Amino acid sequence: MGISRDLRTRVLRDQPPRAEGEYVLYWMTATRRLERNHALDRALDWCRELGKPLLILEALRSDYRWACPRHHRVILDGMAEHLEAIDRRRLSYYPYVERKPGAGKGLLAAMAKQAAVVVTDRHPGFHFPAILEAARKQLDCRLEAVDSVGLLPLDAAPGPLPSAYVLRRRMQKNLPDWLERPAREAPLADYDLGRAGVEEAIQQRWPAATSEELAPGFALETKLPLAYEVPATDWRGGTAAARARLREFVDQQLPRYDALRMEPTPASGLSMALHYGFLSPYSVLEAVLDAEGTSPQQLAPQLAERADAARGKRAGWWGLREQTETFLDQLVTWRELGQRFADQNPDCERWGSQPDWAVATVEAHRSDPREYSYTPQQFERGETHDPLWNAAQRCLVREGWMPNYLRMLWGKHLIAWSPSPEEAWDTLFHLNNLYALDGRDPNSMSGITWVFGRFDRPFGPERPVTGKLRPMSSANTRRKMDLGDFLDRYDQVPRLFV
Ligand SMILES: Cc1cc2nc3c(=O)[nH]c(=O)nc-3n(C[C@H](O)[C@H](O)[C@H](O)COP(=O)(O)OP(=O)(O)OC[C@H]3O[C@@H](n4cnc5c(N)ncnc54)[C@H](O)[C@@H]3O)c2cc1C
Repeated sequence: MGISRDLRTRVLRDQPPRAEGEYVLYWMTATRRLERNHALDRALDWCRELGKPLLILEALRSDYRWACPRHHRVILDGMAEHLEAIDRRRLSYYPYVERKPGAGKGLLAAMAKQAAVVVTDRHPGFHFPAILEAARKQLDCRLEAVDSVGLLPLDAAPGPLPSAYVLRRRMQKNLPDWLERPAREAPLADYDLGRAGVEEAIQQRWPAATSEELAPGFALETKLPLAYEVPATDWRGGTAAARARLREFVDQQLPRYDALRMEPTPASGLSMALHYGFLSPYSVLEAVLDAEGTSPQQLAPQLAERADAARGKRAGWWGLREQTETFLDQLVTWRELGQRFADQNPDCERWGSQPDWAVATVEAHRSDPREYSYTPQQFERGETHDPLWNAAQRCLVREGWMPNYLRMLWGKHLIAWSPSPEEAWDTLFHLNNLYALDGRDPNSMSGITWVFGRFDRPFGPERPVTGKLRPMSSANTRRKMDLGDFLDRYDQVPRLFV
């Protein structure tokens, strides 16, 4: 018995489905949505093939790196949404929130004992590869990991990724085919296999979170032993909030995307929703193309025809309005560059993993005197000599985001003002991943390591400390950006530190 698989599915334990299994278990870890989700589609295909019900397990640990109420809250929002949606559809969903570090150990294995097949998400970066490997060792049933990360499957069109240009060129050739094979829009709409029972012993030892506990008013995230105290923001997690943001962006802001990127606000503001898996990049593409009067399926044959002529160039690839093309290049080329690079290079967050020229140039300037030098704590509080840098950092701490353009400047200055490149590297990862709602993502890695020269080229003239890394200055940034009252809004040390 079996079902065919495409490039998105990796079989981690290749065993036949367990005939006596009571359900198909979908262990949702990274693709936190009930639509346009290839892993959910795959689990449902198994349900139909085997005639068994679906059980979805979504578990939230308390001891992941940079755990804090801010990250927890948005995940809890998503869980609350799933609980409500799934209850209406008469199937089984098990939201588990760990109350003490390590308390959730054994839950997956216990649930898998009754499963015919376990399907989970495949995702690069952060702790995902490690938890998959641990599950592979621990479970003794069929285990499949399914990739819903990008428009192009991670295993399609492999090859080195030195620059955005190289990936763009590869995508121009390979993407059209995959645009015609999206995950289902409403996979649960015709589900009729009923509820799966969860053993009493499991429910007692690992009780599921209730809808009251998951609701924002209950503030469960403040009652857990999390490593950091960074508070939640007013950004809501879940697919409904992400879709509302997408709608607003496409209707009101996309036509002025270039200008928006130079304003001290998020641009689309979708990176958080993409990071937590609340929204599929395909849904974003669909909404954007809809505004252009077309769809991914309609456009795919035209893209295939233009593939050779496009030659890796950004302009004209999609044959759409300029602002739309610019946005799609971020969503498609740059986003997938980071995801794919992290997937292919598991050590990409290690200092020294940058291109040789980029390592060599900062090494050559390691001992240069620093005009300014700050400790990680001074950076964290936004206490440098530069009001623009401080405002960007304080915005990150307070809001959980930083304006796109300032994010680059923020990283560049932090290198120049740190006592060593390694300290700059560690501080950037720490601040970004602790405070940014879209942090702990492969694009955190690609953004931070871009600042250190990855996917970039050397720039002359050579400068003290940063050598041939691309330079950026606050004075130029102030000229280019329309900062409005940004500096005033963020001129105080955040309350968290007072
Ligand atoms: C130092 C530094 C750190 C960064 N850390 C992160 C991070 O933790 N998480 C994160 O998702 N992005 C990160 N980026 C990339 C980029 O800054 C953010 O994706 C962007 O600011 C998110 O805002 P937005 O959704 O409004 O972007 P938009 O401009 O609306 O772009 C749409 C989408 O395209 C993708 N995207 C846009 N720019 C980039 C880029 N340069 N690289 C990769 N993908 C991109 C994102 O998914 C984004 O949501 C970082 C960049 C730098 C320089």
